[in-house]
Amino acid sequence: MTPSIFDGSTALLIVDMLNDFVRPDGALPVPKAEAIIPAIERARRAAREAGAILFYVCDAHRPDDPEFGEWPPHAVAGTQGARVVEELAPGPEDVVVPKRRFSGFFGTDLDLHLRERRIGRIVLCGVLTDICIYHTAADAHQHRYEIAVVRDGVAAATDEEHEFALRQMERLFATKLVDI
Ligand code: ZN
Repeated sequence: MTPSIFDGSTALLIVDMLNDFVRPDGALPVPKAEAIIPAIERARRAAREAGAILFYVCDAHRPDDPEFGEWPPHAVAGTQGARVVEELAPGPEDVVVPKRRFSGFFGTDLDLHLRERRIGRIVLCGVLTDICIYHTAADAHQHRYEIAVVRDGVAAATDEEHEFALRQMERLFATKLVDI
């Protein structure tokens, strides 16, 4: 058995697994997002068993967010679309970090939470591989965190975008792709 990627100084970051991105009738559905739920459930279980902390990094927009000039309105804070899908609902001990930009670090207290807990490695899963996963990995790398991505726990709108983002993260951000 290969050793777990998770330990007490590792955080699992579950990014944007919200109704608006995951459900086919959501505001901005990602076609393969429902298919990655089982892989994220496995990662969540492995993380909990190893004493790793779970973070939910979630879009939470204002109704007049400037991002809606570029994207259809989605994940408006307080709406059903902005809730984590029920299969992956956060527990009371998990940390939920709302964000308004692609990166989980931009304008949020994610870095503060990680430093307070002496976390040196983050493991990413969720959507989209080439947008919020990619930009969160980029900022994590600038902050010098070790980064891993759950290979079958991320999805993008197309296979090309997905594969390109994985390659770039490996090449530029020293990202490991892990199977759990
Ligand atoms: Zn957004």
